[in-house]
Amino acid sequence: MKYGKATQIGTKKKSRTAINKEANKKIKSSAKYRSINYCELDGINYPEKFLAPAHKKKRVWYRGKEHLLSSEDHWIKICTSCHGFIESKPYLTQLIFKVLRGGKK
Ligand SMILES: [Zn+2]
Repeated sequence: MKYGKATQIGTKKKSRTAINKEANKKIKSSAKYRSINYCELDGINYPEKFLAPAHKKKRVWYRGKEHLLSSEDHWIKICTSCHGFIESKPYLTQLIFKVLRGGKK
């Protein structure tokens, strides 16, 4: 029988939704604390509903390293339009992170 990491350390395994919710909550308060109330790509102050975090890596990359989802080096707050623009451009996404968050991995 194979045990997941969460089972081994004796904690209840959280659902993906719960993990994402928790990460989004942390990101939201961190963005508020750092006064990021604009799109970090085009610099425009959109209403909050048009802004959402974009992650440095694909969702699947964060499996087992969920704590990085809310790590400040791993997300940027951008508008829906910029989301659509970088979504299918992983190279550009990495470049943007390098510029906005530095060379840290
Ligand atoms: Zn934007």
